[in-house]
Amino acid sequence: MAFKSGFVAILGRPNAGKSTLVNTLVGRKVAIVSPLPQTTRNRIHGIVNRENAQIVLIDTPGIHKIGTALDRQMMEEVEQALDGIDILCLIVDAMVDFGRGDRYALDWVRKFQGTSFLLLNKIDRIPKERLLPLIDMYRREHEFSEIIPISALTSDGLAELMTLHVKKLPEGQPYFPEDQFTDQPERFLAAELVREKVLANTREEVPHSVAVLVDGFEEGATLIRISATIYVERDGQKGIVIGAGGSMLKKVGTEARKELERLLGTKIFLELFVKVQRNWRDNPALVRQFDWHRQLEQLSKE
Ligand code: GDP
Ligand code: MG
Repeated sequence: MAFKSGFVAILGRPNAGKSTLVNTLVGRKVAIVSPLPQTTRNRIHGIVNRENAQIVLIDTPGIHKIGTALDRQMMEEVEQALDGIDILCLIVDAMVDFGRGDRYALDWVRKFQGTSFLLLNKIDRIPKERLLPLIDMYRREHEFSEIIPISALTSDGLAELMTLHVKKLPEGQPYFPEDQFTDQPERFLAAELVREKVLANTREEVPHSVAVLVDGFEEGATLIRISATIYVERDGQKGIVIGAGGSMLKKVGTEARKELERLLGTKIFLELFVKVQRNWRDNPALVRQFDWHRQLEQLSKE
């Protein structure tokens, strides 16, 4: 059978399970996950290799209305993710009732001309009777090539999903070497893991106000030395992220280091700093500075 390859964009509202799906299919964490909306800020490739195919999944920020400069950047990421794809997957949280946000997400699918799949996610948490009316409703809204109930968490339905992907992908050579899982270099994964641990350990506005920049990433013979700065928007948030006697920063650092050591299979020395960058989310230049695709461009110029 001829080898197939191509790009699949995963779109959906915040919290639908896009990043979880990409991680499960890749079999390795490439994108951070949290119960909070708008965890993912950039598009990230997760590469799935099969005997007869390579499927490049593109995780994207959740589709939402634009408020800040960061929101604008996130929605531009969604737009860029659609460029040159072979299949679009709209993923929805089947636990949540259909609303205006879902209609808005559907508009994005309608604009796309090619093959589109609808993934009804989190079926591990809903009674089966809930599925049929949902499927009927979406059928009336848009002509999807396939509608597939899945659980990104338990892998239910994912084997079928992969089979359908391979079926619809064009014949072609792999785009990436077989041992590559993602297009996101390790130094940016490190920054994302630090951000994930801050998200997991703080509340309210703090998670949304956090950005992480890796200032140093040195690969030694026995360990990787990483220094990173956690940016927040206000002094009060800095206090929260540092914690009493530095306790929060220590917790975040330990959790991030342990996971990174597991993922990269090497010892890590992780040093963290916290700085205030007032209202960075409203500042397009700062938003750009925190975007890893742009940092990568800068690094390659140096
Ligand atoms: P994203 O914003 O679309 O990328 O969503 P995430 O992948 O970050 O997931 C949002 C939340 O939904 C997290 O708490 C996930 O653990 C949870 N989640 C994702 N997929 C499933 C699923 O299939 N079943 C259940 N029960 N929870 C899920
Ligand atoms: Mg995500």
